[in-house]
Amino acid sequence: MTVPRRILPAVTNDVPVLIAGGSLVGLSAAVFLGQRGVPSLVVERHVGTAIHPRAALVNQRTMETYRAVGIEQQIEEAAAREFTQNGAIVSVESLGGKELDWYFREINEGVEDLSPSARVFITQIGLEPVLLDKARAGGAEVQYASEVVDVSQDGDGVTARIRPRDGGDERTVRAQYLIAADGAHSPIRRRLGVEMLGHGSFSDSITIYFRADIRELLGDRNLSVIYVFHPRLVGFFRFSIDGDAGFLVVNATIDEEGNRSTAIGEDMSEETCIGYVRLALGAPDLPVQIENVQRWSATADWAERFAEGRILIAGDAAHVMPPTGGFGGNTGVQDAYDLAWKLQYVLDGTAGPALLDTYDAERRPAGEFATEQAYTRYVLRLDPGLGKENLQPIVREDAVELGYRYRSDAIEAEPDDDGLVWEDPHAPTGRPGARAPHLHVELDGSSVSTLDLFGRDFVLLAGAEGEGWRSAAKSAGEDVGVSVEAYREGGDFESDGFGELYGVGSGGASLVRPDGFVAWRHAGPAQDEVAELRAALARALLR
Ligand SMILES: Cc1cc2nc3c(=O)[nH]c(=O)nc-3n(C[C@H](O)[C@H](O)[C@H](O)COP(=O)(O)OP(=O)(O)OC[C@H]3O[C@@H](n4cnc5c(N)ncnc54)[C@H](O)[C@@H]3O)c2cc1C
Repeated sequence: MTVPRRILPAVTNDVPVLIAGGSLVGLSAAVFLGQRGVPSLVVERHVGTAIHPRAALVNQRTMETYRAVGIEQQIEEAAAREFTQNGAIVSVESLGGKELDWYFREINEGVEDLSPSARVFITQIGLEPVLLDKARAGGAEVQYASEVVDVSQDGDGVTARIRPRDGGDERTVRAQYLIAADGAHSPIRRRLGVEMLGHGSFSDSITIYFRADIRELLGDRNLSVIYVFHPRLVGFFRFSIDGDAGFLVVNATIDEEGNRSTAIGEDMSEETCIGYVRLALGAPDLPVQIENVQRWSATADWAERFAEGRILIAGDAAHVMPPTGGFGGNTGVQDAYDLAWKLQYVLDGTAGPALLDTYDAERRPAGEFATEQAYTRYVLRLDPGLGKENLQPIVREDAVELGYRYRSDAIEAEPDDDGLVWEDPHAPTGRPGARAPHLHVELDGSSVSTLDLFGRDFVLLAGAEGEGWRSAAKSAGEDVGVSVEAYREGGDFESDGFGELYGVGSGGASLVRPDGFVAWRHAGPAQDEVAELRAALARALLR
């Protein structure tokens, strides 16, 4: 394993990377940067980590990124304290009433072979403290109860004013780059004049946090998400592990004449909310105590561009989608993962600044894809009245989570590339721009995933006859000024099916980026492997 280079703040800059917003995406960005030796300053308006559960379904790709930075197990342990894992996703008329459909019997059913990581159920209340500790351990400064109030940029960096909310002294920070992870209403994105594209807002929804004893209604069912299609109410539930609390999202109500309303936020009185909870539980007399009600708008939009100069827009600030599918927070974490290695390499001079331009080219289509998929699910499951015309056809969850593909100047697309933005993770191609597939390999006497080889530097995986590629890696890397770890099948690792899965013959090789995406591959041997690999690395780094 290579020790990450530590990037020291330059004299004229207080910090290499400033992160506005310290929720799920801001904290994840700080973790990924810290792992790469890049210090960051996270500024968050709230006084601490999340107090509302919000996101809970952490998908396999997100868990792979957390695995790469060594916090997968900690997250699984925290998750087990909050939920019985691997529950079902169902729809019901009410919790105590008729079951309508089982979308998943277990959330990991059918995806076990796609990844070394499993989908995990953990709320932002449980997850964010793990991220915070890891971010701080990696050198991030996290300043709570403070706002980024003013941002300007020039050719060399970004200047931001930070204002503590208790009226304390303002501080001016100079950073080389700013990540705007400041949420769906992103003041920074608005100030930049970056417009949102998509379907707009279509429901003034509410989330009702309540306490009630629902154990008898639940019975022995392990349910992660429960969609409610009651004749009078449409929404979804999640419950605590003890069955004594939960939340109900209400997206629409239907009156006696069958008129549908999505203006739920107009009446958030306690009496109305207790009525909604009892209706959806199918328990008209159950004692229910309302703890909190949050109003939010169901929206499906993405930013017209994800970057403006040295300001990089990530998470809900870049794409906001309804919770149907559980893609929102995950897509944001993956934005941060794409950014972290690019920022490191640009800051330490390994890559040209143009590498950061590929953030928009790679992540915007992925954000748009996830948003469209969440929107289609919302329309089909919750509000068909929005219209089924121009809906993107449903793609399976695992393809949204693991199958999105990148096309950018840093990816050496092959001549027969079909240009599709996703592929089926059950039939991965190993093509440039795709996530390098998971395969169990024997390495130094242990069974590991190919994914465990990625996450630090570039990695070259060569077929059994690919010694030429393996030995070219060191000198090509030195020529370009980047570390390349190289492994050859039969020499460094044993596997069943590497060549087929990665689409290279026994004399070929695949070059995988630090974020685990394939940058380039060569089907067989070459005349001058060092020259080929040098060109491939230069392209991947935009040098
Ligand atoms: C009911 C519900 C269920 C959901 N379920 C899932 C799920 O299962 N899976 C999933 O992936 N997603 C889910 N989501 C979506 C997920 O919650 C969001 O996508 C995610 O929280 C976005 O994280 P973020 O960090 O980008 O933005 P936010 O969480 O909105 O954080 C932005 C932060 O920026 C701070 N901020 C704003 N302006 C400033 C400023 N000027 N200075 C300093 N700080 C500032 C804010 O205080 C805030 O903390 C769900 C959402 C809801 C509402």
